[in-house]
Amino acid sequence: MKESSSKIDRRKFLERSAKVAVGSTLFASVTENNLVNASETKSNSKLPDFIIDSHIHCKGNDKWVEDMVRIYRSYNAMACVLTWIDDLEIMVDAIKSYPDVFIGYGRVDLDNQNAIREVEKFKKAGFVGMKFHSPQKNYDDSSYFQIYRLCEEYKMYMIFHTGISGRNITDKPNWMSSARMRPMYLDTLCRLFPRAKIQGAHLGNPWYEEAAEAARWNPNLFFDVTGSTLLKFIKLGRLERMSEVLWWSSNEGEKNPHTLKDGPSAWEHIVFGTDERPQGLPSNIERFSMMLDKNNVPPAIRKKMWGETMAKNLGIDPETHKFIE
Ligand SMILES: [Zn+2]
Repeated sequence: MKESSSKIDRRKFLERSAKVAVGSTLFASVTENNLVNASETKSNSKLPDFIIDSHIHCKGNDKWVEDMVRIYRSYNAMACVLTWIDDLEIMVDAIKSYPDVFIGYGRVDLDNQNAIREVEKFKKAGFVGMKFHSPQKNYDDSSYFQIYRLCEEYKMYMIFHTGISGRNITDKPNWMSSARMRPMYLDTLCRLFPRAKIQGAHLGNPWYEEAAEAARWNPNLFFDVTGSTLLKFIKLGRLERMSEVLWWSSNEGEKNPHTLKDGPSAWEHIVFGTDERPQGLPSNIERFSMMLDKNNVPPAIRKKMWGETMAKNLGIDPETHKFIE
């Protein structure tokens, strides 16, 4: 792929984003083709200044890389890209060409005998996180501990699929269980690997309460809300349900001996993500914004959720998109 000569200028970006409208009319009108046109014609003050998409998958071809760069740059967004070892080279190239957009995460099968070697390979190639999905045993099975320990030592962020997992209609049997990916297994890992930073994907759908309560006692545990959850609550008119599970404040522990003292508030454990094609970014921003509005999340916490928390977790400067040495 070609090196881009048009690295977006932050001042220009801010000028443009100030003109971008927020709300369902804009987002409904934004498609792959008219994205830039729409962003140049509508007016808006609510779009986040800086975004890190904490969860998107590498599609392993140049077209996908080009779509990512075009769309994510127009939102001043970076993306944590979950990458199998077969796509390592294409991601290494993408990160080298567009370091303002791509953040490399590896993906390994926890039950693969080569898993540890692959983590080493990803680390050597400059990847800063690892993704895990579909284990043959529960996530907190001790046979996986050496892999997690290596990630903790390497300061590689760990993201685990939690909750119900997608499948295709097929005649081919697949011995996979969503029950082995319950969010509470991450509570075990947060206690056992206290220096690690851990993210559960999908807020444990449908085990939201379990996911949130695990986060309440673990300052190093984060969740994204990608997948069907927000679509479900929007359809049911129940986005406020999120406040029922994400209920505690940052000073809760002072009045309540049953909550972590000096721990973050509930919403500070939530980070933005898409888990979709690059073209899904605008509609995911819309859904996430609706969730924030319906639950009256304060502006300072929103900024953390859109990108600042992930920037801090990964050691990235939101102004320059560069890793802090
Ligand atoms: Zn995913």
